[in-house]
Amino acid sequence: MHVPQLDDRLQDVYDAVVHRNGGEDEFHQAVCEVLETLGPVLDAHPEYLESGVIERLVEPERQIVFRVPWVDDDGRVQVSRGFRTEFSSTLGPYKGGLRFHPSVDAGIVKFLGFEQVLKNALTGLPIGGGKGGSDVDLRGRSDGEVMRFCQSFMTELHRHVGEHTDVPAGDQGVSAREIGFLFGQYKRITNRFEPGVLTGKGLDWGGSRVRTEATGYGLAYFVREVLAAHDTSFDGKRVVVSGAGNVALYAIEKVHQLGGTVVAVSDSSGFVVDDDGIDLELLREVKGGRGGQVTDYADQRDGATAGDGSIWQVPCDVALPCATQNELSDKDAAALVENGCRVVAEGANMPTTPEAVDLLREAGVLFAPGKASNAGGVATSAFEMQQNAARESWTADDVDGRLETVMSDIHARCLETAEAYGSPGDYVAGANIAGFRKVADAMLAQGV
Ligand code: GLU
Repeated sequence: MHVPQLDDRLQDVYDAVVHRNGGEDEFHQAVCEVLETLGPVLDAHPEYLESGVIERLVEPERQIVFRVPWVDDDGRVQVSRGFRTEFSSTLGPYKGGLRFHPSVDAGIVKFLGFEQVLKNALTGLPIGGGKGGSDVDLRGRSDGEVMRFCQSFMTELHRHVGEHTDVPAGDQGVSAREIGFLFGQYKRITNRFEPGVLTGKGLDWGGSRVRTEATGYGLAYFVREVLAAHDTSFDGKRVVVSGAGNVALYAIEKVHQLGGTVVAVSDSSGFVVDDDGIDLELLREVKGGRGGQVTDYADQRDGATAGDGSIWQVPCDVALPCATQNELSDKDAAALVENGCRVVAEGANMPTTPEAVDLLREAGVLFAPGKASNAGGVATSAFEMQQNAARESWTADDVDGRLETVMSDIHARCLETAEAYGSPGDYVAGANIAGFRKVADAMLAQGV
């Protein structure tokens, strides 16, 4: 059990968060993790406490919960629940993805929105933070059902979003297909072709090159910086990646380009180990069909073996959790340490439990929190917004170059900030404090 290590001045803030947001464990966890690192900031800047900036930062500006009725292919009416938490507009329009997954509830959306505020601040780009989604389960549903669901979702959401107000994108369960249906409905209702209202759009109608790849590529770029700061590189490194979604697939692609070897990958069916390096084409093929499972990969490739249980038992130098929140437990962390893992970098949002983070850091494993290491996706969404505003379409090299720069800037900012506040080399403190200071200073400037 992780016991919160809170400064007296912050304990009250945390207690109020727990009291006000009953049962929303992931939100408590995300807030606690940030507050634990802010003590040295309050010593240097008492004005943050005096002005109530911290209390304001942990309370979303607005939370929207709505009914999403839709008709399935059998003509039955289904009722799902929709959410949008508009957490902070201090640095720009609310910005963050939509997650369609049965695990989505008010607490999950709130934790993701809170993380997004600091992550977006770290990118240095003009975007606030928010998150939304629905508890709908669209797995196995037809395109027609997905379309009707998305249309109903946007029929309510349209009044809350806009290029200057709130700009959703994808997350788990929401990719180009869903963004297309959402955009079509927004356009129909508002009679405006307003590309800046959503990011992750198709290339022919306002999307950005490299947006699909950006979270995975950005993660690999960030880890390259971590390794370089410790006088090493991806060359000869064994890398394990959990998840087989968008983030994982493009992280694997980029790790291979940068000289590392991804030796294991997982999904809900289990994991597969391939010491020669995961064949991405085969993985895509296996995962391509409906219900495709990574464990089928082993049947089609000599030397590959399927396993069940935890992927983190597979020995590696670098671990990239890219599946979902709290997927990497203290037991998993202990196995990673035992097997000599040197770097854990989060591709998903908060995939590592607090106990696991404690264990990794005590063992000297370099730990990169998602709000720094997976910020490439939202940064590229901000590039998409810039292209839309300027009615431009940048080349893939241009976007990719900007993504690399953003990731190395975030890395440098984390290390500089950690050093300045007495925790040299600590990416958690660096990311939290750098993100927090940017938002807090702007909040002070804008008044209560
Ligand atoms: N869902 C992604 C994230 O967690 C991207 C959000 C966006 O592009 O707005 O950061």
